[in-house]
Amino acid sequence: MTQETHVARNYAPLDVTIASGEGTWVTDVEGRRYLDMLAGYSALNFGHRHPELVAAATEQLGKVTLTSRAFRSDRLEPFAAALAELCGKDLVLPMNTGAEAVETGIKVARAWGYRVKGVAPERAKIVVAHGNFHGRTSTIVSFSDDASARDDFGPFAPGFVSVPFGDIDALTEAIDDETVAVMIEPIQGEAGVIVPPEGFLRRVREVTDERGVLFVADEIQSGLGRTGETFACDREGVVPDLYLLGKALGGGIVPVSAVVGDESVLGVLRPGEHGSTFGGNPLAAAVGQRVVQLLSDGRFQERARALGEHLDALLSGLVGSGVASYRRVGLWAGVDIDESAGTGREVTEALLARGVLAKDTHGQTVRLAPPLTIRASELDWAIEQLKLVLTR
Ligand code: PLP
Repeated sequence: MTQETHVARNYAPLDVTIASGEGTWVTDVEGRRYLDMLAGYSALNFGHRHPELVAAATEQLGKVTLTSRAFRSDRLEPFAAALAELCGKDLVLPMNTGAEAVETGIKVARAWGYRVKGVAPERAKIVVAHGNFHGRTSTIVSFSDDASARDDFGPFAPGFVSVPFGDIDALTEAIDDETVAVMIEPIQGEAGVIVPPEGFLRRVREVTDERGVLFVADEIQSGLGRTGETFACDREGVVPDLYLLGKALGGGIVPVSAVVGDESVLGVLRPGEHGSTFGGNPLAAAVGQRVVQLLSDGRFQERARALGEHLDALLSGLVGSGVASYRRVGLWAGVDIDESAGTGREVTEALLARGVLAKDTHGQTVRLAPPLTIRASELDWAIEQLKLVLTR
């Protein structure tokens, strides 16, 4: 095992040191293999080193990798065109990490509010949800309600109003003339795969339309196939004004994020008002375009649907035997561990000893989000290990 004595302690990783990965499996420095049931929080939706994504990256490595946006590259427009088409939108603003996409979405919504809606200077408000997770920058943690994300990191940015997730009345009530956007995760990932009540996203769309407010959907974790649809919003036939995308967009190879919207919204930005040295670089664009291609025939979405139902059948058999309850959508589950069976962390440690990688969240929940390339037999094996851990 490699000890991380020179790495800042902002994470508490499980006791495994990964040296290689292929498909759904990783191998540690001692040659032990593990089934990856976390998939980089959905950044590895296509598994480790998907051959088509590695080919796209390798080809681009042999050409040019970084130009900066001071010049055009021949990779960015094809990527943007493909992603805009996947989203049914006009424009793509490329960034790198998820948090940057969220920051970009906030800036775009505010600029739209001032320039199009006519909100008075410095007054723009954005409605967010309790339990949200949108990243770690100082502005984003300003509207987090997780103490470990916020404590000692103030002063915080004003301009955000938080309401209970899934409560359409509270959300409607929170909107006033200074509100420029409602920004939510269609399904809250870090909170433990929390699915809002049926019809909620449709109502958010209706209310935001009625009140002249943007609907910004953070699909960084929920999007790009995970839920059995291209976007979690598709489950209710809803199209937001802005999609915030990240994680799987980089194919697990490079950080790639984006804000995608129509000319009427994303078109408010003028040259020089926003940017990133690395955003939209040729290597990222080459990988991102291949990711969009992989998603364009619906194959992975279909796998997430079918395998998700299989996972559901397996998990339902554990309720009452160490599992208190679970939520599952597509190939994504938040499993609440019965306290008598240990904490979420203890369960992930025991799973690790049995060759399964998973991640706990909020104490008692274990999140399962394997690559969409996983086989049904691998899911069977993983849940069998969970069963053995819970009944040990
Ligand atoms: N938004 C959501 C919904 C996320 O789940 C995450 C990361 O977990 C982020 C934003 C932040 O992404 P990143 O860690 O790439 O900054």
